[in-house]
Amino acid sequence: MACLLLTRKLYGQPVVRSFTQYISNVSVKTRLSLPTRKPQQLVTRTFQTTSKVHAAPLGPLLVKLSSPLYRFGFLYLGRRLRQYWNNLPPDKRAKYTKIFSNSRNAIFGGVFAFGGLSGLYYISHLEEAPVTHRKRFMILNHSQLEKVAAFEWQKMDEMLERKKLPPHHPLFKKVYKIVKRILIANQSREVNGIKWEVNVVDSDEVNAFVLANGQIFVFTGILNEMENENELAGVLGHEIAHAIMGHSAELLSLAGFFNVFSLAILTTLWAVIPTDIGAFAASLLQNTIEDLIINLPYSRKIEQEADEVGLLLAARACYDVRYVPRFWHRMHLKDGGGSDAIMKWFSTHPTNASRVKQIDELMPEALELRSSFQCPQLQEFYDASHRFRQVRLI
Ligand SMILES: [Zn+2]
Repeated sequence: MACLLLTRKLYGQPVVRSFTQYISNVSVKTRLSLPTRKPQQLVTRTFQTTSKVHAAPLGPLLVKLSSPLYRFGFLYLGRRLRQYWNNLPPDKRAKYTKIFSNSRNAIFGGVFAFGGLSGLYYISHLEEAPVTHRKRFMILNHSQLEKVAAFEWQKMDEMLERKKLPPHHPLFKKVYKIVKRILIANQSREVNGIKWEVNVVDSDEVNAFVLANGQIFVFTGILNEMENENELAGVLGHEIAHAIMGHSAELLSLAGFFNVFSLAILTTLWAVIPTDIGAFAASLLQNTIEDLIINLPYSRKIEQEADEVGLLLAARACYDVRYVPRFWHRMHLKDGGGSDAIMKWFSTHPTNASRVKQIDELMPEALELRSSFQCPQLQEFYDASHRFRQVRLI
C-alpha cells in the first residue's frame, strides 16, 4: 500500500462500469464507478499516452526473491558455506585456494559480465511514468501485480473488516463523495482502468493508504484532523495518485532488481565473516546502508510525486488546493515543528515541512490548472498558519 505513513501498494486490473450501473447497484455501495466518457488528458501537462508496463520474463521471480523468507535462505546458505570451509581438512583448503587463485580472472570476468548484463536489463526496462514523464524501472505488468494485490487485499480486509464504517455513515459518505468527484474530474485511461473502492476505518491512527487495486483506506483518525473538504481532497488526491502512477509496481520492481545484489552480498558476508555475531552485525549494517542510499530516498521521491500529482488531481476537481499545505503545516506543528534534520534521512516519507515547501512551489501551477477548468472562483483566503510558516521555515 502507499499512504501517508506506510509504503506498500499494489495495482489493479481495468474494470470500467457505467455511472448508471453504480446507481442501480446498491449492493456494492463502497465501490465507485465512473460515468463512461471519452478519457481526456489527466492534467494539462502531459498524459497523452500511458507508458506501457513491461512484462519482464524475470519480473515476478525477482520480486518473489525480495521476500524475507528468501533472504533468510541466502543467509543460511552463506553460513553453511562458511561451516563447510571451516570443516575442510587443510590439504583440501589449500587445493581449493589454489583453484580459486588460478581462476581469479575468470571469476572477475564473470562478475563484470553479470554487472554488464544487469545494467542492460535495467536500461531495457526503463519506461516513462504518466503525468510527470519521469524515467523509471518497471518489470511488472498489471496482471502480475494484480495477483499480489489480491493477496494483500485479502489480508487487509480480514484485518480491518470489523472496523470498517458502513456506507450510510456520514464519514464514509464524505470520503466517498470527494473520491468520486476527483475521479470523475480526472477521467483517463489510468483512472478508468482501476476498480476503485472506498473503505473508512474506525481507528485513531492518523493515516490513509491505497492498494494498487484501487482500494482506498482512510482512518477516522486522519478525518478528525481535517478542517474542511479541501484538505481532505488533498490527502485523497495523494492516495489516488499513488494508484494511477503505479507506484507499488515501481517499488516492487526496484526492490526486486537491487535485491539480487543484496542477496549476493548477504551470502558473501555470512560465508566470509568468521563468527555469527560478526556476520549478523555486518548484515544489519548492509541493510541500513541499502535503506539509506536506495530504498528510503526512492520511497520519499515516490511520495513527493504523489503529493505533486495528487495536488493537480484535486485542483482539476475544483477543490481549493490552497488548503492542502495548510493541513501539512498543521501536521508539522503537531509533530513539534522541528527541522527533523536527522530523522528525515531515516524516513520513508518526506517531512511535513518539506511537503509544505514542495506543495507551495507547485501551487501556482495547480491554481492555473484549476482556473482552466471553469471552476468556481476562489474565495478570499487568509491563512494565518501559512504566514506563521513563512517565519518558521525560512
Ligand atoms: Zn503516500
